[in-house]
Amino acid sequence: MTERSVFCLWYRSVRNSLVKFFGGKCGACDMKLNRTTAQFAHLKPTQITGRGRGSWERLHDVMANPTSYALLCYHCHREFDQ
Ligand SMILES: [Zn+2]
Repeated sequence: MTERSVFCLWYRSVRNSLVKFFGGKCGACDMKLNRTTAQFAHLKPTQITGRGRGSWERLHDVMANPTSYALLCYHCHREFDQ
């Protein structure tokens, strides 16, 4: 196993846990979400700004500030950001 694939597995499991932690569904429309469809939306500004989606920095920021984020589906996130 390469270093990169180990990182990918780990990243995936962290993302999985975070989605479960947030209830596994969209905070706005109750749509069921998994680690590939779930998106983390800023409720309050944190150190990280912009749309660094899917990045490790974003995931780390969610873990550090869970109350500053909401779990949303793609559509609700788009409306939320407008
Ligand atoms: Zn939604």
